[in-house]
Amino acid sequence: MLIENAIVVIIGAVVLSIGLVYSLSIIQILKDFNLARPWIMLTTLISFFFIGYIFTALRFLNIDLLPSLSLENLVTAIFFFGAVFVLMLAILNRNLLANIFGMGLNDTKALKIFSEYIQIPSHQVVSMIKPEYYVTCDICHQPVKYSIPDIVRAHPRLERGVIVESAMGGVNYRFFIRHYCDKQYREIPVRHDSHFEYRSHGPSRPV
Ligand SMILES: [Zn+2]
Repeated sequence: MLIENAIVVIIGAVVLSIGLVYSLSIIQILKDFNLARPWIMLTTLISFFFIGYIFTALRFLNIDLLPSLSLENLVTAIFFFGAVFVLMLAILNRNLLANIFGMGLNDTKALKIFSEYIQIPSHQVVSMIKPEYYVTCDICHQPVKYSIPDIVRAHPRLERGVIVESAMGGVNYRFFIRHYCDKQYREIPVRHDSHFEYRSHGPSRPV
């Protein structure tokens, strides 16, 4: 029975080591963007799990590397750090998805962020904008619906979604409208005038 337990734990350790390879490749990708730190912590946790698994498997095989450490203590530690691991992974994924699909902001909050960014009081912004705008996609030729709050939600870094340009007699706004098209995300640059009326748009590009 203990040998069977050891085999299952060893299989678990193999699965864990595959997970380790994947998390190392995630670190490789993220380090260029200076975003690797949480994944380094996760990878360290996975390494500790790996050591714990090997230790437990050996214990089942009656090989005792650290007699002072009981199996109960080890299981307790694995349970606790397992919960920490899941929490970290859930937060990381939530942040990642918020970046891809837009933050979970309601329209009021999004408009507040927008008005602070363009430095115009929000009641003034609200009085000028339309609830919805449309632009035609140059790839699929479908109308793409967007609103100012949509733009804010799609761009956690708003300077990547809204560019304020000085123009004759005021300002122009260049908005980058995110649109899922032909199995990829594209951005359509749209120009609005100082009263937030649609003026023109340029060719889209993949994000
Ligand atoms: Zn399209």
